[in-house]
Amino acid sequence: MANHLFDAIRNAIPSREKVLIVADNGVTWTFGDMLDSSARIANVLRNFDVGSGDRVAVQVEKSAEALMLYLACIRAGVVYLPLNTAYTAAELEYFISDAMPKLVVVAPEAAERLQIVASQAGARFETLGAKAEGTLFEFVSEQSDTFVDVERDPEDLAAILYTSGTTGRSKGAMLTHDNLLSNALALRAEWHFSNADKLIHALPLFHAHGLFVAANLTLLSGSSMYLLRKFDVDQIFAVLPRATVMMGVPTFYTRLLQDDRLTKEATQHVRVFISGSAPLLADTHRAFFERTGQAILERYGMTETIMITSNPYDGARVPGSVGYPLPGVSVRVTDPTTGAPLGAVEPGMIEVKGPNVFKGYWNMSEKTKEEFRSDGFFITGDIGIMEADGRLAIVGRNKDLIISGGYNVYPKEIEQAIDAIEGVVESAVIGLPHPDFGEAVTAVVVKGPLANLDEAAIAADIGARLARFKQPKHIIFVEDLPRNALGKVQKNILRNKYRDLLH
Ligand code: ATP
Ligand code: MG
Repeated sequence: MANHLFDAIRNAIPSREKVLIVADNGVTWTFGDMLDSSARIANVLRNFDVGSGDRVAVQVEKSAEALMLYLACIRAGVVYLPLNTAYTAAELEYFISDAMPKLVVVAPEAAERLQIVASQAGARFETLGAKAEGTLFEFVSEQSDTFVDVERDPEDLAAILYTSGTTGRSKGAMLTHDNLLSNALALRAEWHFSNADKLIHALPLFHAHGLFVAANLTLLSGSSMYLLRKFDVDQIFAVLPRATVMMGVPTFYTRLLQDDRLTKEATQHVRVFISGSAPLLADTHRAFFERTGQAILERYGMTETIMITSNPYDGARVPGSVGYPLPGVSVRVTDPTTGAPLGAVEPGMIEVKGPNVFKGYWNMSEKTKEEFRSDGFFITGDIGIMEADGRLAIVGRNKDLIISGGYNVYPKEIEQAIDAIEGVVESAVIGLPHPDFGEAVTAVVVKGPLANLDEAAIAADIGARLARFKQPKHIIFVEDLPRNALGKVQKNILRNKYRDLLH
């Protein structure tokens, strides 16, 4: 029987003995172990009467076992629904009442708080800890390590992933077997993955980056990964000499740059460093190149579409650019209000179509309709510029666009100008409600510990370089910018915090 995604994973296995995972607890998993373990868990799911199309909601610490639970769901025809480990019981209540899973698996420490949430939704409840402790694996050990995979077509659901909630309430993106498979195969070709690769995996497993880009790609190229529970600089330097690829969010790279151990020698066996999930500053790209001789390969994607564009593997990896659409994926830039296609170099709405684009938002058919054009293009909500040669650059999010005195202001342009000032570490530019301007451009700035900077110095510098309507009306100094687990700056938190500042 055909199971679209798992058949492809099975066919990519070089041998049962080949190492798939080296976990940071010292345990090694071969591809054979993966087959046996995922079969045992799939048998448990069947015994629990969790089957075709049922959801399994999972909020657990990162572990090889958690990855096996994902694979077991794929094999059993079950829809995998991972949840950010940072979510509180109250937040989990929303996700569980929205998704109505048949089984909820959480960390043992959270059992007391969450059992009631699961039982209110009528779901079965089990626990899984970082060392495989908990109730779920008590059922696993006695199971057979063979399992006849449940038949799944390309269009059947494989997972529901909730978006990060950067712009509002998280939405459940329904991803099919072919969304996951087609995207991983496109990346395998683009990034030249082979079974000789050894990936540093320090990303969370509840997000598309760690699960579908990093883990699926490793599985589908028959390669190996160092599965690190979290990003820890010492651990990264410990595995770097043996790794061939690292995937990370921009904060991984800024943190590595702060360490003297980052040198050409330390990174010489790595064939590519990949970045995504949030904008990589051009400065970070340049500094990393200066220190290591390695040009970070930046790519762009989102929960609803997995990966959309990538800088080339062979060819120039341009700082500030997210590269070209992946094979089979169409990207266009349109007028955000009318939807009319725009010419090259005009900032507009990024729209995407292809086998990677999700089936719709779970339980939100109206929202799904609103976000698709009649010809099938998905409206990403990101503003970008397409160069004449087809390269895309992200300017920002539509929701972050500031309209001040009737003028459109793109925060990124102002952030870049501020970041270029000596002594500035980073900045976030937001629009705050203002009685005269509608919105007033406001800069939230982090300065270096020794920087002798004040509002007037920044204003003077910017004043010479940017049109008056783009200049911040107000500059706020802070210690840190608020960020989520993937290092995304949470501008909604800043907007809420300073909402009444200019009234
Ligand atoms: P929500 O949709 O709930 O507001 P979110 O959009 O942050 O949250 P994700 O799907 O995790 O949730 O993130 C996708 C977004 O991340 C993209 O739409 C884009 O804004 C941003 N992003 C991803 N990669 C890059 C990149 N290389 N450069 C700039 N932005 C990026
Ligand atoms: Mg989004």
